[in-house]
Amino acid sequence: MLDLNKDVKYVKSVGPNRVKLLNKLNIYTLKDLITYYPRDYEDRSKPKNLYECVDGEEVLIEAMATGRILEMRKGKMVISKLIVKDQTGTCYITWFNQGYLRDKFQPGRMYRFFGKISNKNGRFEMNSPVYDEIDQSKNTGRIIPIYPLTYELKQGTLRRIIESGLAEVKGNLPETLPDYILKENNLWNINLCIERIHFPKELSDFNKARERLVFEELLTMQLALLKLKNNYERDTNGIQFSKDAKMSDVINILPFRLTKAQLRVLEEIDRDMESNKPMNRLLQGDVGSGKTVVAMIAAYKAVKSGYQAAIMAPTAILASQHLESFQGILDELGIRSALLISSVTKKKKEEILEKLKNGEIDILIGTHAILEENVVFKNLGLVVTDEQHRFGVKQRSTIASKAKNPDVIAMSATPIPRTLALILYGDLDISIIDELPPNRKKIETYAVRKNMEERVNAFIRKQIDEGRQAYIVCPLVEENEEMGLKSVTELAEKYQKETFSNYKVAYLHGKMKVKEKDEIMQKFKDGEIQILIATTVIEVGVNVPNASIMVVENAERFGLAQLHQLRGRVGRGEYQSYCILKYEGNGETVRQRMKVMCDTNDGFIISEKDLELRGSGDFFGTEQHGLPEFKIANLFEDIGTLKKVQKIALEIMEDDPLLEKEKNKKLNELIKEKFSSRIEI
Ligand code: ADP
Ligand code: MG
Repeated sequence: MLDLNKDVKYVKSVGPNRVKLLNKLNIYTLKDLITYYPRDYEDRSKPKNLYECVDGEEVLIEAMATGRILEMRKGKMVISKLIVKDQTGTCYITWFNQGYLRDKFQPGRMYRFFGKISNKNGRFEMNSPVYDEIDQSKNTGRIIPIYPLTYELKQGTLRRIIESGLAEVKGNLPETLPDYILKENNLWNINLCIERIHFPKELSDFNKARERLVFEELLTMQLALLKLKNNYERDTNGIQFSKDAKMSDVINILPFRLTKAQLRVLEEIDRDMESNKPMNRLLQGDVGSGKTVVAMIAAYKAVKSGYQAAIMAPTAILASQHLESFQGILDELGIRSALLISSVTKKKKEEILEKLKNGEIDILIGTHAILEENVVFKNLGLVVTDEQHRFGVKQRSTIASKAKNPDVIAMSATPIPRTLALILYGDLDISIIDELPPNRKKIETYAVRKNMEERVNAFIRKQIDEGRQAYIVCPLVEENEEMGLKSVTELAEKYQKETFSNYKVAYLHGKMKVKEKDEIMQKFKDGEIQILIATTVIEVGVNVPNASIMVVENAERFGLAQLHQLRGRVGRGEYQSYCILKYEGNGETVRQRMKVMCDTNDGFIISEKDLELRGSGDFFGTEQHGLPEFKIANLFEDIGTLKKVQKIALEIMEDDPLLEKEKNKKLNELIKEKFSSRIEI
């Protein structure tokens, strides 16, 4: 019997040293090995005549050895030279420190060589090519897969190990998708796919193989989420919060009137909270749409029903800000809120933990620190995660596990197109705040190039002289060093000492200590700092109504969704606000992206465009969206497949909500295998 889970060390040609290297690539089993997919291919199947070879290209030649290898020494280096010939020319081949090649080549025999060729005035040379005898195709003569990271493993070695693995499973992989799915969607069977994804016979094979593997991966993910949702819906052991705990108690004392959208969302939450099904709801709303107050009102209802609430934010700054908002309203209703972030003193922390256990704290607001094991609630009933896209499913379930079946609200300011929402949050119900509070001014946005710098700086000075404050955002410190971009510190220095020497300038980045960051942020809030230079740490949630200018350096490096988030830091007060995107590069896509930002303030439109305009080679990849990691699928490239898969998944689920039918047995097994270790299905 074929055992896909057997240790990779039992695969032929894998010794103890190689096991270690394979493990570094997260390859532990035979299955891991054969599903370590290539990232690219090199066509070494079509030989060229020497006279056709262009200087600098990688080519395959078939040529005869004219003599034996000649060896020379240069210091410690061994240089091996071989002269080969085809009907059209002669090529001089050189290897370095490959003494073992000495007797490899017989005069008069034909060989294949693949490598980079140089042509200097009709003299062809190749350095260190790979080679085969003419009737072999170990390294040449076919389309060769190129694997992603290999660490110390050579491409050729890994390729041979994978070939051994493939030989072991040859034709015997159990089919993972039901027959009807394969037929209806015209997909290749698993055996053919796995073989051809590594060794396509034609380059088009690769597309066909990849299509099915992507299809399967996305379908599995989508079905798992939908099934999870169907499971929740059957669960009647959720907390029923009290009908007597009235949200209107808070609504009536707010300093503003809630928008229609906020009220609608609160109704949905109220209904969920009073029902016996556990709530699992995503609350989506553009930056500034007023999600915090919604969370606060839900938390009030939980507390008034005799439970505690936990609010988890991705940064200490944000958590502190939430505490401030909550206390500003809820203190007068006798609700006790507290803050738990990693910078609180040990003594203070002990006190908080004690009170939390006794029920003397009603609402705990904090960062990841809340997830720690020693944080124990008396009876936690509601969990809210802010900026949900920063927290994975796992963290959501860790915090939820501190309570018995709590209600959960996940808030996100990253508006995402429906297609992505379904694959990201398919297990959740979705509420959307699609309206901003009244009287918000549109943030005027301008995209400018380097030659406008002086005008931009003059404009910033003018705004500050009128009493406003400015943010200047630049890409990450670490990335800068490599990319040769301005690093925050360097830029801060230049701005401090030269450009804005008459103003108070400070900088903030992710590598600073939490305490330092908080101090600076506080000073900015208090108006003691006029220009804050920062990395994207200020992206989420920070609220400084007096700040009216957001400058983004190297804006082309950011995703649109992220630029939109950044822009949301201004326009929070009564002042007309501005966003200035400084960009470099002439690409059409870059220009279009900048134009989208200037044309609209609507996060949903922006996210749709982002998806449309983004290539797979995008600098920030999928990280900022918090998209799940896929082995082969790429949500941006494979959006077409994703849409198709979602339609199919919804149809399957409609027909068979818990995947119990015989024909769907394989699907059920697939999602169990992929996800059971992470989430309960
Ligand atoms: P976000 O959805 O980005 O988290 P916040 O909850 O931080 O937005 O709200 C942004 C600002 O708008 C806050 O200062 C908040 O007090 C205010 N706000 C929220 N709802 C309303 C409303 N209905 N009318 C006026 N201001 C509001
Ligand atoms: Mg918020």
